Amino acid sequence: RKTVWRLSTGSDELNRILNGGLESQSITEFAGVFGSGKTQIAHQACVNLQCEDTIFVDNEWVSDEELANPKAVYIDTEGTFRPERITQMAEALGIDGQKVLDNTFVARAYNSDMQMLFAEKIEELIKSGNNIKLVIVDSLTSTFRNEYTGRGKLAERQQKLGRHMAVLNKLADLHNCIVVITNQVSARPDAFFGVAEQAIGGHIVGHAATFRFFLRKGKGDKRVAKLYDSPHLPDAEAIFRITEKGIHD
Ligand code: ADP
Ligand code: MG
Repeated sequence: RKTVWRLSTGSDELNRILNGGLESQSITEFAGVFGSGKTQIAHQACVNLQCEDTIFVDNEWVSDEELANPKAVYIDTEGTFRPERITQMAEALGIDGQKVLDNTFVARAYNSDMQMLFAEKIEELIKSGNNIKLVIVDSLTSTFRNEYTGRGKLAERQQKLGRHMAVLNKLADLHNCIVVITNQVSARPDAFFGVAEQAIGGHIVGHAATFRFFLRKGKGDKRVAKLYDSPHLPDAEAIFRITEKGIHD
């Protein structure tokens, strides 16, 4: 097993409840309503991957080769990737926005088949010499949700989602990658609160993700991230902000 490394989210608060930052060999999920900050977090991760002081290695040494010229794959299922936003965040950190864009492969997936295929192709990108260290699927479930509607399709949808998650998990494990997925939420009846929100995808997604977050909007540019159901971390909340600079405390 290779040494785990971490990538800053941009927010110290958020990093703290993650025990240092986004973790390699794991899948981290950010779920929340529209505008809660999922896509911003995904953009910031691509920028931070190109910024040496936002990459951490705990305890042990990760070889230079391992993290040399790291690249990201951004599977965009909603058409919300914005190069200008990458440039803006990069400039705020004093790094070259073009370098971030050159090291981020953006794949626009119009349906779940394309989405799954892109994830499977990452292995080939790695074999041909690209040091893929960050994989983002933004959003994981929107295509599936659109295509598999109604109870009758649920089993098929979950089976396919399960295969997709297995591919992502394998990438994380085998190549010491950080995988970030974003997810929508749906309302469900709740005995205490009337209606509560839950991430889409049920146990298939829940069990595959190591770290699960719910994002909600706070006052102004503030956002609240709640970590829940983690196998080795306590439930916790962090407050961060989204401004023109990106994600920060
Ligand atoms: P989600 O993906 O969860 O639907 P986003 O990550 O797209 O949400 O977050 C959108 C929000 O991020 C906007 O409502 C705005 O508050 C903030 N945001 C996006 N871009 C900028 C920017 N350039 N400057 C400041 N805030 C921004
Ligand atoms: Mg989004």
